[in-house]
Amino acid sequence: APLDPDAMFKQGFLNDVYNERPEKCVFTRFPPEPNGFLHIGHAKAIAVNFGFARYHGGKCYLRFDDTNPEAEEEIYFTSIEEMVRWLGFEPYKITYSSDNFDKLYALAEKLITLGKAYVCHCGDDDLKLQRGGEKGTSPRFRCEHAEQTADENLAKFRDMRDGKYKPREAFLRMKQDITDGNPQMWDLAAYRVLDKPHHRTGDAWKIYPTYDFTHSLCDSFEGITHSLCTVEFVLSRVSYEWLNNQLVDFKPMQREYGRLSIAGTVLSKRKLKEWVEKKVVRGWDDPRLYTLIAIRRRGVPPGAILEFVNELGVTTTNSMIQIARFEQTIRRYLERTVPRLMLVLDPVRVVIEDADEFDGTELTIPFSSKNAAMGDHKIKFSKTIYIDRSDFREVDSKDYFRLAPGKTVGLLQAPFPIRATSFTTDAATGKVTEIRAVFDRETKKPKTFIQWVGAEGSGARACEVRVYNPLFKSDNPYAVEGGYLNDLNPDSEVVYPDARIEAGFDEVRARAPWPEAAGEDKLGKGGPESVRFQAMRVAYFAVDSDSTDDKIVLNRIVSLKEDKEK
Ligand code: ATP
Ligand code: MG
Ligand code: MG
Repeated sequence: APLDPDAMFKQGFLNDVYNERPEKCVFTRFPPEPNGFLHIGHAKAIAVNFGFARYHGGKCYLRFDDTNPEAEEEIYFTSIEEMVRWLGFEPYKITYSSDNFDKLYALAEKLITLGKAYVCHCGDDDLKLQRGGEKGTSPRFRCEHAEQTADENLAKFRDMRDGKYKPREAFLRMKQDITDGNPQMWDLAAYRVLDKPHHRTGDAWKIYPTYDFTHSLCDSFEGITHSLCTVEFVLSRVSYEWLNNQLVDFKPMQREYGRLSIAGTVLSKRKLKEWVEKKVVRGWDDPRLYTLIAIRRRGVPPGAILEFVNELGVTTTNSMIQIARFEQTIRRYLERTVPRLMLVLDPVRVVIEDADEFDGTELTIPFSSKNAAMGDHKIKFSKTIYIDRSDFREVDSKDYFRLAPGKTVGLLQAPFPIRATSFTTDAATGKVTEIRAVFDRETKKPKTFIQWVGAEGSGARACEVRVYNPLFKSDNPYAVEGGYLNDLNPDSEVVYPDARIEAGFDEVRARAPWPEAAGEDKLGKGGPESVRFQAMRVAYFAVDSDSTDDKIVLNRIVSLKEDKEK
């Protein structure tokens, strides 16, 4: 049986966090910077924040942390929201840090008035010296700007706002505590001058607040009770609390959980962008990538991603997980939830010479041998069928249990096993073009059953199948001599252009997704990728968005078993 879907909230870190502050109405937020596409790590952040609120009957905001106009683009806002919904969560409200620019500005003036902020003109080298020099061991000190009066600071800050300083000529610093051992207390920047129009506020602002100034205050504005972030912010907790203590009444509680990384995957925006530009992959949603749009396109069900995060559990340490473990969860999830069909990747034609009486016979086939609730469907048997080329050998041997001249093999769901009698090959290529066979009506229990699909006219369809493997040959492509381009795996995508799928596919597509199959909720309804099935003896597949009415394109989600070679 699958793990309790709320396990991660019932015990361990997240349970402790709740018990530290057992609010009746919990408020959380998921606060992405809209500067890129979300990746598998963000799925954990979504599951943690939205899941925590849902489990405790509370609410979770989707807050776009849009304080850096240099990197923000419309497409990221749209895609981030879409991914949150795809994972099955409904934001309580969608907010933007930039909606608070006026409020934040007013609080910055208040901080100045309180004598807790000053406008500084120092450059990076000065700052480094003030913070203890190259090694961080010399005495820390404040610059002369920290001596300015509140009125001077206020005047300068307004000059910053009014565009009288160029970027880097002035910035607002919080006056924290440089004697504290925590570098997050060493007079962090609160506002900087940026000569960039903002996605939402246009040319209204010449100055923008920093993460350190914005985050805690926006959390307070929204009444966030549990501000859950990743462990690299653990030192920031002190400055987070310091700022709210200076300026606001409502005090959220920040707690930090470990980041999720998957070994061998590259998530860096800069690197992925370069791959897209150099056409190493077809785009940001190329199924070989680990962005969420790519994982979705590949056909991984959102429920499997949530199950994965839940299984790993949430602690305060970062985790590096093998891809194999992720795939194992996906496989188990799919095994419970998707129907089964017959697919042949590389078809070779078989004529069963004594099958006249069964030509056109209707066979009733269950969609799952394990779950009767999935129901069944009908396909037509035919005298001519296709099997996979890899299931036939021209020369038999004792340790081989599939089809060969004189050898019998079972056909899944068919009236009888078949025995090959002869075959023909193409003179030019030497490839087998047709196998002749007869029913073996004596052998009741053949050693092996293989899949097959009906010939033309049976309702089976031609399709293109794409099988994905790792993008690179080595685990660390950037360490390879000559650069990562020298490490590309030529087999990262293997295409079977002439595959064939049985007639049951149409019903699988019409009924997808298959929540009734295992009591799953209706996650992921809508896109072509929600048409998922197990191709018996082959792998798990989903429909790719390149499919058209005439042409089906399938992506391999995962293999049926873990590939031991890797
Ligand atoms: P990246 O640089 O990879 O985009 P980020 O930290 O800049 O990551 P944000 O856009 O700020 O990402 O992410 C929004 C939220 O998602 C943050 O709270 C962040 O801590 C969380 N998050 C990002 N990456 C991970 C990860 N690998 N595991 C868990 N949470 C993550
Ligand atoms: Mg960030
Ligand atoms: Mg980010």
